[in-house]
Order: sequence, then structure tokens, then C-alpha cells
Amino acid sequence: QAKARGRGIYAFYSSDMQHQAQNRLTLRVELDGAIQRNELRAYYQPKLGIADDGIIGFEALVRWQHPERGLVPPGNFIPVAESSGQIAAIDRWMLEAVIEQLAHWRRQGRRILPVAVNVSASLFSRSDFVDELTRWLGESRVPGHDLELEITEHVAMFDLDYTLATLQALKRLGVALSIDDFGTGYSGLAYLRDFPIDTVKIDMSFIKRVHEDEKNQGIVRAIIALADTLGLHTIAEGVETEKELAFLKRQGCWGYQGHLFSPALAADEIEHRFLALEARQGMRLDR
Ligand code: C2E
Ligand code: MG
Ligand code: MG
Ligand code: MG
Repeated sequence: QAKARGRGIYAFYSSDMQHQAQNRLTLRVELDGAIQRNELRAYYQPKLGIADDGIIGFEALVRWQHPERGLVPPGNFIPVAESSGQIAAIDRWMLEAVIEQLAHWRRQGRRILPVAVNVSASLFSRSDFVDELTRWLGESRVPGHDLELEITEHVAMFDLDYTLATLQALKRLGVALSIDDFGTGYSGLAYLRDFPIDTVKIDMSFIKRVHEDEKNQGIVRAIIALADTLGLHTIAEGVETEKELAFLKRQGCWGYQGHLFSPALAADEIEHRFLALEARQGMRLDR
């Protein structure tokens, strides 16, 4: 199954069931080494405003630069890291790496656009999470509003009082907050009203062929209407075609990301394509 992800990456898991437990164990051990040997990489996918197609920020997505297997996508190791608890270490690594990158771009005098980092329940639930983040930002002299955190409905649900207090503390830091993969979890809707969320990200599964899939149209329209009513932005994930984009634009979706514009790219690519020292605003580059 991992093989099907393609791009020449050697499959981590044998499809043979009896080898799976062994493979997961091997992967855990390898992952520990990956963190220690600094083999993780932050890749950045542009997010665009739908109204003018200008870049409004980036989402940081982890990759594993494996010495033999090449660039491994998160789908091949995040699930194991989640069950082993290693995900918190990966998220901490990503947050520090992204803050360091933002500090670097600031020192270079580049145009600064906010970068979103995905935060797992495992990291979010740690009582020292906000303090740690505050310290990293302070040490790198990066303002909180350079950063956005993407949490899932699942993260938002595990302890309402703790979650609300944590989200409020993050907002006081200036950090923007998104709900990721919206519509795929089990949660209710009350938290959208009660939590200081800025943006709802419409899951990729609802965007697929949305211009011709009536069920997806119904879901996407409903999410946009709900978000509008609550004063939240909407970002569509995984936009791959002009037709999908045109539909989203007609419905009043606020922003999007997807391979139609660009996949996630290494920091140096992002720099010369999108963060030239002289700001280039609001145009599509290198389609
Ligand atoms: P996500 O946070 O929902 O990120 C969006 C995913 O959709 C990314 O996959 C991105 O590369 C992919 N994507 C964007 N546009 C398109 C498109 O047009 N077509 C297709 N087919 N895919 C598109 P990626 O990078 O493989 O990450 C998968 C998931 O792994 C993420 O989903 C997120 O849940 C998780 N993840 C990635 N990095 C991190 C991290 O640093 N920490 C945590 N906790 N999770 C992460
Ligand atoms: Mg995300
Ligand atoms: Mg998502
Ligand atoms: Mg997703």
C-alpha cells in the first residue's frame, strides 16, 4: 500500500500481513535515528487567496530525507509515529525548523508570509506546549503572527477546557489557528462557535471533482456557508484542476492550496520562486 504512493519510494511495509508488526518496529527504530541524524525536512506548500490568486502563506509539511529510500512522504511514517508517540518529537522538530526558517528569511529581509505547522494531539496535549513555543519564538525573535497552527477536530476535542485555554493562549501570542481536514472527524459543531479559530480547511476528499460531484458540492457549500456565518475563513485543500477552482471561486471560498498551483517544495525553491527580495505579489508563477 505504501508502494502505491509511488515517486520511486521503496515501500516501508510489506503487504504481507505477517511482516507488518516487524516492519513497524523497524520503522520506529529508524525514525528515532532520523530525528537524531537530522534527516527530517520541512517542505512548504503555498496557500493562495481565491479572489486574486496571490500567495497568502505556506503550509509546512514534513518529509524524511532517507539515506537509501530518498524523500519519504509523511503518509509512510506519521501513522506509526502517532501510535508510538514519536509524533510529538517530529512536531517539535518541525516547529523549531519552521521558526528558524522564518528567522532566517527575516534576517535576509525577505517578504514574510505566515507559515502553518500541523500539530498533533500528542504535542498539543502537553501542558508545556505553549511555554515551549513562546520560548522558541522569543529566542528566534519571530513574532507569533508569522506562525499558524493547524489542528484537527480530533485535537480540538480531547479536553474542552484545556483546549480552549490553550487556543486562547496561542491567540494571545498572535498565532493564527486552523481546523484541518474539516468534515472528516467525529466532533460536533459547538467548538467552531466557542474556540478562537480563524480558518476552516475543507478536506481534500470533498474537493475532488467538486465541479461535477453533487454530494461534494453540497458538503462544500454547507461548509462555506457555516464558516461565513461564524466569521471564519475557508481554505480548500488539494485543488488539482481549474474546474475545481472555478467552482470554489463561484461559491465564495476564501483560499486554496493544491497541485494546480504548486506542491510542497523545499525552502530554497520557495525562496527563489516566491520570496524574492523584491516582493512579487499576486501573480501565478511557473505554472
Ligand atoms: P494535511 O495537513 O491535510 O496536508 C495536506 C496534504 O495534502 C499534504 O500531504 C499535501 O502535500 C497534500 N496535497 C496538497 N495539495 C494536493 C493536491 O492537489 N493533490 C494531492 N493529491 N495532494 C495534495 P502530505 O505532505 O503527504 O501530508 C499528509 C498529512 O500528513 C498531512 O495532511 C498531515 O495530516 C500530516 N503531516 C504532514 N506534516 C506533518 C507534521 O509536521 N506534523 C504532523 N502532526 N502531521 C503532519
Ligand atoms: Mg495540514
Ligand atoms: Mg488537511
Ligand atoms: Mg488531509
